[in-house]
Amino acid sequence: MKKLIVASNNDHKIKEIKEMLSQFPFEVLSLKEASLNIDVEETGSTFMDNADIKANEIFKIANGDMVLADDSGLSVEFLDGAPGVFSARFAGVHGDTSANNEKLLYLLDGEKEENRKAKFICAMVLIVNEDEIVKVQGEVEGIITAEFRGEKGFGYDPLFYLPEYNKTFAQMSNKEKNVISHRGRALDKLKGELEKLI
Ligand code: IMP
Repeated sequence: MKKLIVASNNDHKIKEIKEMLSQFPFEVLSLKEASLNIDVEETGSTFMDNADIKANEIFKIANGDMVLADDSGLSVEFLDGAPGVFSARFAGVHGDTSANNEKLLYLLDGEKEENRKAKFICAMVLIVNEDEIVKVQGEVEGIITAEFRGEKGFGYDPLFYLPEYNKTFAQMSNKEKNVISHRGRALDKLKGELEKLI
């Protein structure tokens, strides 16, 4: 079976991507599962730059296996696009979800709904081989709540409210989130490409 290495050390992202690709006859592996102990520095100024950097760095050591990189995060217009590419380290420490969420709540404290509009963005780069590289981006719009809602998901999910569903991402099942999420939408755009590889 063909292997697809997900260029990420974020277990939540990997779980979502594995679920969304479950219908494909590929062995989807995390970096750990592929025995690639590497942390690629994200030095780009856009999500796509960072996805590109991660995909290329991992492809160099992937022994010819396909590589899929996801760089994603939250963008709030009122905060000039922040947290943006700094989503994982918004409050200073990489991966400190609770501090990141508290900082977001603090910066939007007392703001009306108009100023709480946000979107999740996911840039994905799939490297099939040196000559076949596909880049896609998925987005979903929502509103940053004034308090935490829901226990599921990860990162900013408990603060990301989707009015059409009357739920935050943290109040949705994985299945529900995956259909409409930035990551789900990016992967949908890649599916045609992946089908050609079966
Ligand atoms: P990355 O691993 O550098 O792409 O960092 C992504 C960061 O963006 C995560 O640590 C989260 O803070 C945030 N993020 C990305 N996608 C999601 C999502 O689906 N839900 C909640 N937070 C997300």
